[in-house]
Amino acid sequence: MQLYNIKDHSEKVSFATAVKQGLGREQGLFFPANLTPIDDVDNLLKCPFVERSGKILRHIIGDEIENLEELVANAFAFGAPLSKVDEHNYALELFHGPTLAFKDFGGRFMAQCLKAVAKDDKVTILTATSGDTGAAVAHAFYELPGIEVVILYPKGKISNLQEKLFCTLGKNIRTVAVTAAFDDCQALVKEAFDDEELKKAIGLNSANSINISRLLAQVCYYFEAIAQLPEAKRENVVISVPSGNFGDITAGLIAKALGLKIKKFVVATNDNDTVPRYLATGKWDPNPTVATLSNAMDVSKPNNWPRVEELFKVKGWELKELGYGKLNDDETMNAMRELHAKGYVCEPHGSIAYKVLQDNLEEGDTGIFLCTAHPAKFKENVDRILNIDEPLPQALATRANLPLLSDEMAPDFAKLRAYLLERA
Ligand SMILES: *Cc1c(COP(=O)(O)O)cnc(C)c1O
Repeated sequence: MQLYNIKDHSEKVSFATAVKQGLGREQGLFFPANLTPIDDVDNLLKCPFVERSGKILRHIIGDEIENLEELVANAFAFGAPLSKVDEHNYALELFHGPTLAFKDFGGRFMAQCLKAVAKDDKVTILTATSGDTGAAVAHAFYELPGIEVVILYPKGKISNLQEKLFCTLGKNIRTVAVTAAFDDCQALVKEAFDDEELKKAIGLNSANSINISRLLAQVCYYFEAIAQLPEAKRENVVISVPSGNFGDITAGLIAKALGLKIKKFVVATNDNDTVPRYLATGKWDPNPTVATLSNAMDVSKPNNWPRVEELFKVKGWELKELGYGKLNDDETMNAMRELHAKGYVCEPHGSIAYKVLQDNLEEGDTGIFLCTAHPAKFKENVDRILNIDEPLPQALATRANLPLLSDEMAPDFAKLRAYLLERA
């Protein structure tokens, strides 16, 4: 597989390099040079999820990674069930992984790929988290031989449950409670990546969210969604994606480019609505980011948007084919209540996708909205808004009783440097 840098098409790299490097020159995103449609999609839809996903990723990535199917099986150790909500609407549940969010698919596949392409090189993943990314990274790399993970987070500033989720693992996952704010943790990480000597000594890698391997993994669950629909409902499918950095919807559009039949994609956001406003007016005009109930979408400058535009350009599609819409927090709560009245408990992100979908459905369409997180992940808000007591999934309930294994550190780079070198 070859990829090019969107900012400088002359920079061409292999899949392995794109995975290891993350970004190209001038912070440019990598994009697949060739998205040939898959020959027999109908037949492919008959395969089981993991086998089909192996075939899809083999089609995209080619023969660069010998045991790709094995990596896919390791990464996709949980399903993506499609749940019927009413006659016209289905929820694609992407939250059955270890950290209860769709990011488990991309994170786990990236971890497997990174392990495969690094071969015997030393790799240290260093990341700062204000809660969720840390958990996804920790679980994705847990027990992968030869990879050390160090996660910094602001002591006392993340929720108890969040902390329990990734600070109780041990083994190759080290977590550090920094006695400072999230920004200080980020500054420490940045300093480490600027330290060439350290970078080389421990094979520093950020495993961050713009890595192409994540997007490619996410392509697979769009095929899975259609495979679970009754055949009579596979015409005129409209898919609504709750969007923040726009990685998830990019993956859906890539699935369409590969030949999956989707009538329309719908962009759903909260008050951070740069893209819906852009699609309505043609003007790119980000406002300052505001905090909302759907906080994983509190992004006003989505970093994957250039990939969406590139794909439309390459395929000759028009942006006006995209549906769009946004909900403020009051509307989000109403959407949650509306779904609850239909017997479906949904957290804020998925509920936004549901409601915006309704505004974009036509007679005879089948709607699918992506449920990106488990309702228990947003338990406090879900319980309060719906007046229920949402139970924790078993795996998380067990984890909540384990002791914390974090080290504590002052926000001092010399200390962090020594800490990182100690195990290298
Ligand atoms: C990350 C996230 C999103 C947004 O996904 P993007 O790929 O950044 O658009 C939506 N919902 C949840 C729960 C998330 O964690």
